[in-house]
Amino acid sequence: MIHLKNSAQIAAMKDAGRITGEALLVARDMVRPGITTYEIDEAIRRYIEKCGAKPAFLGYGGFPGSACISINDEVIHGIPSKTRVLQEGDIVKIDTGATYRGYVGDSARTIPVGKVSETARKLIEVTRDSFWAGIEALQIGNRLGDVGAAIDGVVRQNGFSTVRRYVGHGIGTDMHESPDVPNYGTPGRGIRLCAGMVLAIEPMVNVGTFEVKELSDGWTVKTLDGQLSAHYENTVALTSEGVLILTEVEKGF
Ligand code: MG
Ligand code: MG
Repeated sequence: MIHLKNSAQIAAMKDAGRITGEALLVARDMVRPGITTYEIDEAIRRYIEKCGAKPAFLGYGGFPGSACISINDEVIHGIPSKTRVLQEGDIVKIDTGATYRGYVGDSARTIPVGKVSETARKLIEVTRDSFWAGIEALQIGNRLGDVGAAIDGVVRQNGFSTVRRYVGHGIGTDMHESPDVPNYGTPGRGIRLCAGMVLAIEPMVNVGTFEVKELSDGWTVKTLDGQLSAHYENTVALTSEGVLILTEVEKGF
């Protein structure tokens, strides 16, 4: 069952979204060669708590951090660690969430560490572009398959592949609500989009195969072929006035 949100609930979700987006800016500004993923995670936790919110990821399903921080061929769910040090040329995915007044925000970005390869730069850009193509298709009366097809279309046009095993999701008082939001699909198929839907739309895009594997730590997901992966996610609300990007606090990021 899909929990549609009224305007008061969406207003409350704006706060959770803003805090989540600001925590990602804090993280972005720390990214440099030599820093550990633990230090970034700690800063995110402190920022969210300073705002009077709770890190939504901390303890979720037993996850030990406030952010999932995944490097290079790690797709999602990387565990922050004092022994993971960012290196020049890496790309780092930071995915975090805040719970504020009972509502959750969820957002992710992929950030280059110093100077990165041309392929890495293009992958980050295409992943972001694919999200925005999905947003263009996110219109009342369209279907979920239109959104997924738009995302996957941009990815394929650029010679990359869309992860299928993991998908976006509805979000509200729970981080993961109905429906699933695949980053691929068939135009005209899937549930019909209507006002009050709040979704986390989150393309995960690989340079090579779309296939992934989970590591023995029970969390980290990597590309099967060891090539790079990027992630871009916002929590968005579909309203009769259009789409609100709840976790976007700086245009172009
Ligand atoms: Mg997320
Ligand atoms: Mg999510």
